[in-house]
Amino acid sequence: MDGRELLCFSSNNYLGLANHPRLVAAAHESLERDGLGAGASRLITGTMEAHLEAEAALAAFVRAEAALLFSTGYAANVGALQALAGPSTVVLSDALNHASLIDGARLARAQVRVYRHLDLDHLEALLRESRAGADRAIIVTDALFSMDGDLAPLRDLRALADTHDAWLFVDEAHALGVLGPEGRGLSAREGIVPDVLVGTLGKSFGAAGAFVAGSARLRDLLLHRARSYVFSTAPLPLVARAAKAAAQLVLEADELRARVLTHAGRLRTELRARGFEVPESEGPIVPVIVGDPAATMNLSAFLYEAGFLAQGIRPPTVPVGTSRIRLVPIATHADAEIDALIAAFRAFGER
Ligand SMILES: *Cc1c(COP(=O)(O)O)cnc(C)c1O
Repeated sequence: MDGRELLCFSSNNYLGLANHPRLVAAAHESLERDGLGAGASRLITGTMEAHLEAEAALAAFVRAEAALLFSTGYAANVGALQALAGPSTVVLSDALNHASLIDGARLARAQVRVYRHLDLDHLEALLRESRAGADRAIIVTDALFSMDGDLAPLRDLRALADTHDAWLFVDEAHALGVLGPEGRGLSAREGIVPDVLVGTLGKSFGAAGAFVAGSARLRDLLLHRARSYVFSTAPLPLVARAAKAAAQLVLEADELRARVLTHAGRLRTELRARGFEVPESEGPIVPVIVGDPAATMNLSAFLYEAGFLAQGIRPPTVPVGTSRIRLVPIATHADAEIDALIAAFRAFGER
């Protein structure tokens, strides 16, 4: 950045796959074989073998019946919610859900009820008061929350959904690849099956785009009704080929997963020991809460001078008074690089 070499602690490239030779090769081969653009939307003439193969591989990856590719995670969430919900649907949404989930529920003109972050009692109260007045209820949650790094209580959410005849919609964007057996996400780790599972391909998978997985019926419905799918040019086939290759790599990436989680655990322990406020969580995201936005940017600038890219996150992305540095170690960081970052935080504390 600005001609300086910085060690990046702010990406979502958790497994370090974005530059992996097998993904790069898959994309190169696709260019030769498929050309560049898909030329049209999927329902017109844009569907290529590359898309169908990626969908089959991604469905198999999360052990769902079927999956549908979208150009981005944003488009997947907006499209899926708009397709599944309407004015007679109540959407119960965690207060810290990703913006794309919020926008999807709005676009659907659904009855939106926001429950306090991870608060099951609040969710249940909202379900009790709203369920009878709606034809359909959908509980929507991130699996691993992007700014706090904490996890949704998916088993409890599944049980509440079953009790109240609601669907469970889980956005696995940050969990997929990192958590669960073979990186199959938090749902797999918790042994639950969401009705709708969204996975993104631009984070652990190192590529771009997203997929929605679930039943074959769900796929069929989205294929005809999700407007961000129907009215948008199909993803580049090379992205689909890279995503398929990534699904195989991610399955085999136990060592990389262990490295990210070990790095994150060390950062939590060591930064806490040096007096920094680091909330309880167990995934790859390590927020360091500073509070004041200016103080947060000072810390970010100090780290920059020390050779680390560690972005400050301020309102409105996070609530007022909780400005933070969101640290994300990745599998390709060396242990010595984690040590160096910890040393930089210590130097900041002692300055
Ligand atoms: C990143 C993210 C998205 C959006 O995915 P893109 O592919 O970047 O559009 C959706 N949901 C969550 C929880 C995310 O973190």
